[in-house]
Amino acid sequence: MDTLDTVSRLLRHRHGLAAYCPRCRRWEDLKLGPLIVRGHGDRPLSTLRLRCRDCRTVGELQVRPPLPVFAGASWMAPARAAAQSLGA
Ligand SMILES: [Zn+2]
Repeated sequence: MDTLDTVSRLLRHRHGLAAYCPRCRRWEDLKLGPLIVRGHGDRPLSTLRLRCRDCRTVGELQVRPPLPVFAGASWMAPARAAAQSLGA
């Protein structure tokens, strides 16, 4: 398997990329297609410097694996299921 170290490889393996601005304390999911179009597809992620569009601080990048593909998948368990597992 490819290492997931460039934007193109993330897209090929259906991973996402998000950026965190420590100053604004906000996350943004990045669109990989436009990054590739702008010539960043083959750049190592470690050299990619993306600035917050609000405050211009350099964001911290986080690679995000694809969500599971079964229906209703989410990172968070529904509240009802959690209550049932507790016997409520
Ligand atoms: Zn910011």
